[in-house]
Amino acid sequence: MTLPALGVLGGTFDPIHFGHLRLAQELADALGLARVRFIPTGTPPHRDAPTVSGTHRLQMVRTAIAGNPLFEADDREIRREGISYTYDTLSELREQLGKRPLCLLMGADAFTTLTTWHRWQELFDLAHVVIAHRPGFRLQELQAALPAPLHKIYLQRLAGAPGRLPANAGAIITREITALDISATRIRALLAQGFSPRYLAPDAVLEYIAHNHLYKDSDAR
Ligand code: ATP
Repeated sequence: MTLPALGVLGGTFDPIHFGHLRLAQELADALGLARVRFIPTGTPPHRDAPTVSGTHRLQMVRTAIAGNPLFEADDREIRREGISYTYDTLSELREQLGKRPLCLLMGADAFTTLTTWHRWQELFDLAHVVIAHRPGFRLQELQAALPAPLHKIYLQRLAGAPGRLPANAGAIITREITALDISATRIRALLAQGFSPRYLAPDAVLEYIAHNHLYKDSDAR
């Protein structure tokens, strides 16, 4: 890559946990990303509304990434009215960044849903897509899980070593990362049952959750 790339990690972050943070750190290291920007979703189109407000989710992200100069938080999606699309976010970032490469980071599970995303084929005009997968995960498994149109694009766009990326957008890159089988769903369930989610997310995030009485029940907004 000519200019240092910006990584973008979108998610509900409801709450943010070590799975998200490790994904961002390992992909930043592997690809030589200048920064990774965490962007909590506003009203996501593909799934149920997040359990807690955008303000709380953004604050938990800020708390989790404090002290890591590689990481930054971006509140544009939670400020946006209506449904929040990754396409709109990447278009805005592309305008701001000029020719700088953009890398949209995601887990393999998220990639398999890409055809349901708004203007999904045009995402490749705006950014590279970097798929993080667990060690030992066979990429044939990923391919088998892709719907036909995405499978075709995956094969067309799959890049070799990141250092040889030809442009500022358009490639698909796969990288192995440490497997951490942590989900926000599991953390919410533990909290709702009165169990500790310690060691699944940073202590500062768990303190924020406790202080604000989040995830105790379905009214915890
Ligand atoms: P939920 O359990 O509420 O569905 P989640 O923990 O999967 O949430 P998201 O905010 O939906 O978190 O995920 C944002 C991004 O982080 C997605 O690209 C997802 O694939 C990735 N991701 C989530 N958990 C992990 C994990 N443990 N390891 C690697 N990637 C992860």
